[in-house]
Amino acid sequence: MVRGEIMYNPKSKIAEEFISHNEILETLKFADENKNNKELVDEILAKAKLGKGLTHREASVLLACDDKEKTEEIFKLAEQIKKDYYGNRIVLFAPLYLSNYCVNGCVYCPYHKKNTHIPRKKLTQEEIKREVIALQDMGHKRLAIEAGEDPVNNPIEYILESIKTIYSIKHKNGAIRRVNVNIAATTVENYRKLHEAGIGTYILFQETYNKESYEQLHPTGPKHNYAYHTEAMDRAMQGGIDDVGLGVLFGLESYRYEFAGLLMHAEHLEAVYGVGPHTISVPRIKKADDIDPTAFDNGIDDDIFAKIIACIRIAVPYTGMIISTRESEKCRERVLHLGISQISGGSKTSVGGYFQPMPEKDDSAQFDVSDRRPLDEVIRWLMQIGYLPSFCTACYGSGRTGERFMDICKGQQIHNFCHPNAIMTLKEYLQDYASEETKKVGEELIAKEIETLDTVKQQVIENLEKIQNGERDFKF
Ligand code: SAM
Repeated sequence: MVRGEIMYNPKSKIAEEFISHNEILETLKFADENKNNKELVDEILAKAKLGKGLTHREASVLLACDDKEKTEEIFKLAEQIKKDYYGNRIVLFAPLYLSNYCVNGCVYCPYHKKNTHIPRKKLTQEEIKREVIALQDMGHKRLAIEAGEDPVNNPIEYILESIKTIYSIKHKNGAIRRVNVNIAATTVENYRKLHEAGIGTYILFQETYNKESYEQLHPTGPKHNYAYHTEAMDRAMQGGIDDVGLGVLFGLESYRYEFAGLLMHAEHLEAVYGVGPHTISVPRIKKADDIDPTAFDNGIDDDIFAKIIACIRIAVPYTGMIISTRESEKCRERVLHLGISQISGGSKTSVGGYFQPMPEKDDSAQFDVSDRRPLDEVIRWLMQIGYLPSFCTACYGSGRTGERFMDICKGQQIHNFCHPNAIMTLKEYLQDYASEETKKVGEELIAKEIETLDTVKQQVIENLEKIQNGERDFKF
């Protein structure tokens, strides 16, 4: 069948039907024709204000719109939706690189098989323990494990054993309470094993939704298979994982194409499984060992990046959005206001980099990190710019995942759980890990935040006192 003839069907489980190339082209054409149609833009903005989200077509019109006044309105609305759904909370996490062995040929990633000058490393369980203790000593409670794709060096058994090790380590008052997993597309059976191992979100970036580009950017290895990669979230859902995280690597393809594809993927998950993605990540391609980001033609500047984030926020208000330390402090601050709800802090992108910090220019790092501040500094900064850092993992611990989590989100009840939990986990962090300066800023913030609570106020005050006296792990 000719590519353009494939029917768009969000309910289909076939990649080229739920991410229809033709539908994306039609969407981009429609967006171009209507980007300055003020009446339509106003209609879309009015629908977006109801907080129930937008279709990929509607959101693509907003992204294409270049009217200054309307763009301002888009940014304002994204900020408002962010406040309504997430309040001032920002969830913290750190990536943990297990292995950089990889059999794929991804042209943007230094782990690609032909790269013979990066040292290949795979952590032993003993080394994982050291990494996790270093992460716990920073104050982290939530990790995202990362690994290259290599069935011999990094088989699923290795990933499962590593997850078990991570959850088993109780060092001082520390504990990793949620392990998210970012590994290559795999089978339903393996997703079931990951689910049974108690993972949080399964994260897999699509890299690009454009099949032709995808195949060129992944010339060799199992990742070359576009359909297998694109249908991974369907298999994850079938394996029982109901929190999945989407993302594209911005810079590989035209950003408007990716934006429409990303939202179509979210619509597909909602249409088939009744639950959209738990998170969306927005990585931009970065310099790395033998990778020069300027070799890719589709790089986006900070203004477009901010607009993409604002438009995603408006289109899928109840989906968390993640930004990593690929971005600078300045860029992170700007997009936090526009929709980001989770950030990494104190990250190392090299295998073994937490226990044994590497020199600034580290050959085994996956990509250059822009925000190199230690976690303590990131936490203080967040509080100083008006946010409430949260180390909460309670939804996961209490089985509030998938559709249950989304129902709570859509009913905007999330504040009743998340806000008090954020306050209590911040208090734990201040007690156990913060510098004196951060502690001072944090205690002032907690005193202010308590005043915003209503029914649970007394209970939170009592729990904070217990935390002060050494008890841990309170949650609603
Ligand atoms: N190997 C797994 C897979 O196949 O999906 C995922 C793990 S990989 C460590 C995590 C992500 O890093 C990739 O999905 C890709 O989007 C991103 N990445 C790779 N090279 C990058 C670069 N040069 N700059 C920024 N991000 C990059």
